[in-house]
Amino acid sequence: MANKITPSRRQFIKIGGATMAAIPLMILADKAAAATNAGMRTAMKYQDTPNAGKACADCMQFIPGKTAAGPGGCKLFPGDTEISPKGYCVAWTAKPK
Ligand code: SF4
Repeated sequence: MANKITPSRRQFIKIGGATMAAIPLMILADKAAAATNAGMRTAMKYQDTPNAGKACADCMQFIPGKTAAGPGGCKLFPGDTEISPKGYCVAWTAKPK
């Protein structure tokens, strides 16, 4: 019994294998894009909840994310892409109106 692989089946196996190999890389790339700056968070007493009505979304240091409710960045926290718009830290400064 011959083990016959037709060209179309061979192509299917190659493409399927490449796709399966790419999925973990895409997941890793997405996780690498999301990062926190633990040192600054601790130093500035960052929390994911507002404090007395003060929230990152209203702070002049906040860098908005892709969506209004999604995580963004902070000018004071280099490399941190997980700052919640509802977060707060001791460096909170009101946005100019
Ligand atoms: S300085 Fe603090 S309160 Fe202001 S955006 Fe950055 S983490 Fe949020």
